[in-house]
Amino acid sequence: MHLLSCGITVAESTVLIIGRTILDDCGLLVKTAVVTGGGSGIGRAVAQRLRADGLHVATIDLNESDEQFAYTADVTNPEQVAAALTAIRADLGPVTVLVNSAGLEKFKRFTDLKFDDWQRVIDVNLNGVFHCIQAVLPDMIEAGWGRIVNISSSSTHSGQPYMSSYVAAKSAVNGLTKSLALEYGPAGITVNAVPPGFIDTPMLRKSEARGYLYVDKNIEATPVRRIGRPEDIAAACAFLISEEAGYITGQILGVNGGRNT
Ligand code: NAP
Repeated sequence: MHLLSCGITVAESTVLIIGRTILDDCGLLVKTAVVTGGGSGIGRAVAQRLRADGLHVATIDLNESDEQFAYTADVTNPEQVAAALTAIRADLGPVTVLVNSAGLEKFKRFTDLKFDDWQRVIDVNLNGVFHCIQAVLPDMIEAGWGRIVNISSSSTHSGQPYMSSYVAAKSAVNGLTKSLALEYGPAGITVNAVPPGFIDTPMLRKSEARGYLYVDKNIEATPVRRIGRPEDIAAACAFLISEEAGYITGQILGVNGGRNT
């Protein structure tokens, strides 16, 4: 069964490729998005927003889910990522939008940080982005159109105590974003990063419970005087993915209530 962009499900897909524009039976441009970390927090809000905007959306997350087009994979495992992408392509067609939101923190004083902790943070937050981009780029190159948004972190602006591995990984993601934007701009693919400020998600609340950040203090230090919502990040992603944002690439778009430190 195939889901068309107009919401109709048909037994056999009749996708037409005219030049480099892919049209489905309804004559609409088919856009399939993959959101990693789509089972929670920011990733879940991005997936909901893109669905509401009319895209076909699949999520990849460590945790199983009953939601439609939710695939279970560890982004650090290239075989699992490839298997998820094979299933997604079979269900929804080629993937031309990728939002990398899967991530984790292991905030600790540097002298308490074990190399295993360091490696896991780099593996999920940086290498996971590598594996997912590698897995979807061929579809985007074939389509002559693509959008990649990497969720990095506002902690990269000035660094943060106890977050060394996390800031190192997320800073590398910003660097990767800028390089890929230059490399794949000529192929019609934009690559941008959204570094969120303090966003009310399970990850943030767990860090707060462990005493590594204080939400109330952060609200006081934030010019717009509130904590961010996952939907704030989803709105920025939706814009960067839109046709209107085609002239924006290689950018690091802070969504942080004006708090750039
Ligand atoms: P979240 O609620 O914990 O969501 C992250 C999701 O990614 C979880 O479902 C998590 O599963 C999943 N995940 C973790 N490792 C994975 C892996 N190896 N493979 C596949 N999925 C994996 O966190 P969030 O706050 O929404 O964070 C989303 C992104 O925003 C992260 O990259 C984070 O670093 C970034 N960010 C968040 C904030 C904030 O204030 N919340 C600020 C700056 C940046 P588990 O729950 O099982 O780990």
